[in-house]
Amino acid sequence: MELYYNRTKIVATMGPASAKKDVLLAMIKAGVNICRLNFSHGKPEDHKVVIDLIREINEQYKTNVGILADLQGPKIRIGLVKDGGIHLVNGTQIKITTHECIGNDEQIYITYPTFPQDVQANEIILLDDGKLQLKVIETNRADTVICEVVHGGILTSRKGVNLPNTKVSIPSLTEEDLINLEFALKQDVEWIGLSFVRTGEDIIDLKRIIARNGSAAKVIAKVEKPEAIENIDAIVAATDGVMVARGDLGVEMPLEEVPLLQKMIARKCRAASKPVIVATQMLESMITTPRPTRAEVNDVANSVLDGADAVMLSGETSVGEFPVIVIETMAKIVRNVEELGYPFNAPKEAVVKDPSSPNFLSNALCESAVHIAGQSNAAGIVSMTTSGYTAFEISSHRPKASTYIFTSNKQLLNALSLVWGVRTFYYDQLESTDQTIADVNNILKAEGLIKTGDVVVNTAATPIIKQGKTNTLKLSVIE
Ligand code: PEP
Repeated sequence: MELYYNRTKIVATMGPASAKKDVLLAMIKAGVNICRLNFSHGKPEDHKVVIDLIREINEQYKTNVGILADLQGPKIRIGLVKDGGIHLVNGTQIKITTHECIGNDEQIYITYPTFPQDVQANEIILLDDGKLQLKVIETNRADTVICEVVHGGILTSRKGVNLPNTKVSIPSLTEEDLINLEFALKQDVEWIGLSFVRTGEDIIDLKRIIARNGSAAKVIAKVEKPEAIENIDAIVAATDGVMVARGDLGVEMPLEEVPLLQKMIARKCRAASKPVIVATQMLESMITTPRPTRAEVNDVANSVLDGADAVMLSGETSVGEFPVIVIETMAKIVRNVEELGYPFNAPKEAVVKDPSSPNFLSNALCESAVHIAGQSNAAGIVSMTTSGYTAFEISSHRPKASTYIFTSNKQLLNALSLVWGVRTFYYDQLESTDQTIADVNNILKAEGLIKTGDVVVNTAATPIIKQGKTNTLKLSVIE
């Protein structure tokens, strides 16, 4: 199957618009690398149908599309309201109660049992993506909070609540998240996303549960709260990847701060060799229109230039009218930047190099591999990895040469689809370094990815049977 290989990857959220074989296949052909399952919607059995579809396509068409199971985390909502919608009038008061009830213009229910204990007077409450705003007047510290309507409007049932100033005490993984997590791990998904991450501990706790389930799934921390911004270094250190979740981030933080926060998070992730996804409203107008706005095209292109490993679509592919055209459009924008204006090989933010770190030598080798690939005008960097470490490290230097990763670790084949520039291949014949290098180069030649006379940079860990850290670099000229 003819596929387009962008370096900056595309994540597509699945939903009724895309969960059909012919549509999904066309989306994958056009450039989708990772399918995101949003566990804020749908039941495990609905997601299972989509998971089976993705696996079937991978099997049938030899693709490596990975799955990101995105857990809802401590999302707060209001309950049902009378007649499906109530009108909140500026300057009036409304009670928020922790007792379940049908909301009306006097009181509404919140799905947050300790809200009256956690909130303080004068804190802000945002409803429905920040469209409506309340201010806390007083709390009885038991079950009721009295608020004033600052920006009113129509409030419909089960809308999301954001509390930018409140120290929310709900656990990072809810009961529902734990059920969904267990299901996702049983399905061997490659990535687990956690919403509303606040601290590095949230990620460490999640990783502990993943390990206890005997899974090697990797974790994406969704950064969408001011507390996550305060703790960004600890979160980046603890996680395997980050999502700049601009939807909620733009509600909880002043909107005008989001562009620079995006750049800051992308820079820190690249310095730490961890992939970063830029998400939400990238091509929003294409939910209903076949052409994006000029501002959206700029946003995708600038996110690529900011150093995103992946750009993500949400409603555009889950419920939009043009799920295939939107992927084609995004792939074209990415491709144009990569062909004409990408800062390949640009140095990443200096990280302190610790000679006592177990990765000190392999990090030096990966950086050198990218440098020497630039100097030798190499057609590819071809590496072996068991843990994936070498792939993340090489990718973080953003090489101009294509990055081909060979591994006997089957889970990595799809997981690395999220990582900038990386293409993966299965290989498990680990007899000698010479034989392996000859084999992997021959496989790439047979695939038409390199040709006679091309220079490639091979990296390996020798002795090869020990599967240790990358310690060997060879320049090969393809025969
Ligand atoms: C976001 O808030 O930007 C986001 C990606 O989260 P979700 O789509 O899960 O609300």
